[in-house]
Amino acid sequence: MHTRALSALAILTTVAATSCTSSQPKIVDDAALRDASKSSAEWLTTARDYSETRYSPLKQIDATNVSKLGVAWSFNTNSFRGLEATPLISDGILYATANWSVVYALDARTGAQRWTWDPKVDRAQGKRACCDVVNRGVALYKGKVYVGVLDGRLAALDAKDGKVLWSVQTTDEKEAYTITGAPRVVKGKVLIGNGGAEMGVRGYVSAYDAETGKLAWRFYTVPGDPSKPFENPALEKAAKTWTGEWWKYGGGGTAWDSMAYDPEADLLYVGTGNGSPWNRDVRSPGGGDNLYLSSILALRPDTGELVWHYQTTPGDSWDYTAVQSLLLTDLTIDGRSRKVIMQAPKNGFFYVLDRLTGELISAEPYSRVTWATGVDKKTGRPMEVPVAHYQKGVVLLTPGPEGAHNWQPMSFNPTTGLVYIPVQDSSFPYSRDAQFKYAKGKWNLSVAWAPDAPPEPPAGSAPAGPAGTLVAWDPVLQKARWQIPYVGGANGGTLTTAGNLVFEGTADGRFVAYSADKGEKLWEVALGVGVMAAPSTYELDGKQYVTVLAGWGGVNLVKGTNPAAANKAEGRIWTFVLDGKKPEPVKSQPRLAPTAIPFKAALVAEGARTYAEWCAACHGTGLSSSGSIADLRYSAPATYENFPNIVIEGAYQTQGMPTFKDWLKPDQVASIRAYILSERAKLSKQ
Ligand code: CA
Repeated sequence: MHTRALSALAILTTVAATSCTSSQPKIVDDAALRDASKSSAEWLTTARDYSETRYSPLKQIDATNVSKLGVAWSFNTNSFRGLEATPLISDGILYATANWSVVYALDARTGAQRWTWDPKVDRAQGKRACCDVVNRGVALYKGKVYVGVLDGRLAALDAKDGKVLWSVQTTDEKEAYTITGAPRVVKGKVLIGNGGAEMGVRGYVSAYDAETGKLAWRFYTVPGDPSKPFENPALEKAAKTWTGEWWKYGGGGTAWDSMAYDPEADLLYVGTGNGSPWNRDVRSPGGGDNLYLSSILALRPDTGELVWHYQTTPGDSWDYTAVQSLLLTDLTIDGRSRKVIMQAPKNGFFYVLDRLTGELISAEPYSRVTWATGVDKKTGRPMEVPVAHYQKGVVLLTPGPEGAHNWQPMSFNPTTGLVYIPVQDSSFPYSRDAQFKYAKGKWNLSVAWAPDAPPEPPAGSAPAGPAGTLVAWDPVLQKARWQIPYVGGANGGTLTTAGNLVFEGTADGRFVAYSADKGEKLWEVALGVGVMAAPSTYELDGKQYVTVLAGWGGVNLVKGTNPAAANKAEGRIWTFVLDGKKPEPVKSQPRLAPTAIPFKAALVAEGARTYAEWCAACHGTGLSSSGSIADLRYSAPATYENFPNIVIEGAYQTQGMPTFKDWLKPDQVASIRAYILSERAKLSKQ
């Protein structure tokens, strides 16, 4: 009787469990994506919903109990480079990407690997990536997992086993395009952009049939050669805002990250990047706004037709991209309910636009800004300071090319009404590169990276403050409600929840929870390597999990960032629950004591120039890398002995360091080595 009762109970439990977790896989279809904000348990698209809010209604973990958060599981990606993806969670599986566009499907309860797919990107492609060989995640739709690959491929994988169902080359492989952004799926089409505006490409966004991989449409963000027919009337109009022979430089305007979709208005929003080259005087010598650089575009998702545009930085000369998070919500402004789109682009102003028309509602600085005094409400244009285009000598401007906000995503909490922005304070001495010559496929900035004459700080400009600050921004009042400065470090993307929480990582390897209303620090954990990716959260079997990728690579242009962050810990996916385990103490490698080696000043200067041109993109400006990519001042002695073998012969190619055989001569490599060793020697004197 006892046994029978138990087995009856077992059957009942089985039935209950089966009916909860239906044996039919849940399908991520158009309805699921449209209602993603209402589904509390899952995370179906990169920023959680089409409005890209990164807000979860889950509240099992809240401000009163977050201090009990511990590790549920962690998964080692065995990599030392940047991890920037937000994990998606559907039907008990967590999907994330690591560097070199490798996809992982893990059991979301345990972290056990279900499958992985390595697109086997040619490591030589690493030199095309301006900002490390990163990837920001996948898209899910009807049993398929879509990923953009660094080398320009878009692949559709079977969600069950990771088998490739189709794969298309979305770019001309002769051009230095890269893909690092997450695809989005709207009404059966997979949307993907690309990067490469530093390398002289022409930006565009493409839509592919989700089922077959057939190209449905492509929208170029800048006009091509005007002697050939324009692709559409929007580009014909745009061409009137360019002068000279811009198409020979590519033009730029790459759409390498942000998108959002309003199903009711049926508008797809896409952010576009900087000009190529950076300096407008070279790209478009007669001036002009250079549409559609640094703009927010509203497109028809069925056809790619441009409905409206708003250019945040007309005639960009500063790498002030508008590729940062696009966030849709409804706000009551001046007693009127407005359907808005919000963005904190690199240029330092927070924009609130009417998302149906593109009309500017408000724009105010969310960080220190010196290149413009404000945004004119009537024209929607920034009021540039007279020296902004650095036509004579060196001009120190804020923000610098790293932007007041970069790719690290922001989030919006409807309860607090606040936008949580990872802000960074950066300045840069802009000056024209007098020796600039366009060279396809290499850095084309026409901005000098190591100007001979250091600029005087402009009157009234404050000294650089903390590099990274988490800002809780009120988009109605256009002012900060609270902010958390990080002395000496950048900060990561944000997640906010109905539990009155904001989660964010830091460059010095912490993952932190704050109260969303007041910014009180409630919990933190040390993960040993910078945490720049945005977290996500999900619920399974009645348990809420928070998950984040730790692993910081990429370019670091922010001066004064914390060298301690260069600790070498492997990149991991960390997943937390209430009453989880304490993470194991992080082992960091002690840095080697620098040694002094004398070199001729001219050789060192040549090395500094060559380094700035060829190496700074990955290893950091002025040799200051605080990411996962090596700070070359701290390499093992064998690295310096083996230097030509590494740089020219490609000894570290398997680790992603490309060969520069076709690009650098041995004497140039020797000068870079002299520069590195001289800078290394300086460290011992500090
Ligand atoms: Ca750029």
